[in-house]
Amino acid sequence: MYSPNRATDELVFATRRLVGAVEWLDEIASDHGHADDCCAEPLDAISSIKIDMPRLLSKFTHYSDGRPMISYAEIDDGYIRTFHMWPPDPADHPTEPVESAMYELPADTKPGDRGHAIVTWCPVTFTGSVRYISPPAPRNGLQVVR
Ligand SMILES: [Zn+2]
Repeated sequence: MYSPNRATDELVFATRRLVGAVEWLDEIASDHGHADDCCAEPLDAISSIKIDMPRLLSKFTHYSDGRPMISYAEIDDGYIRTFHMWPPDPADHPTEPVESAMYELPADTKPGDRGHAIVTWCPVTFTGSVRYISPPAPRNGLQVVR
């Protein structure tokens, strides 16, 4: 659905960022042993509040000005699903393609370093194109771009 107005555009964007940060915090806290110990109660409270958020947020697909809120792309034959959130304020919408951070390709199909992928997000078509970067060649240490 289209967001009804600019205030909702901003709220949906901020809420998606908040949910992402909460998921990150939850992961880090678990990794560090806080989830079973000192911080278990507030972490459980946050988790139970957050549980409905992805479903509620998924109803909002477009900003009030008609732009998609999020674009999606698949890396490594769909093994990694990635997305890009476009800014809610049309004045902040990029005029040039936006590059993602580097995604490390998981080493489960072939052992060792499989290299990286970068997604270039197009602000006109709202699509992501994936570029693969091979790992450094052990013989000469140069990075081969294919
Ligand atoms: Zn703690």
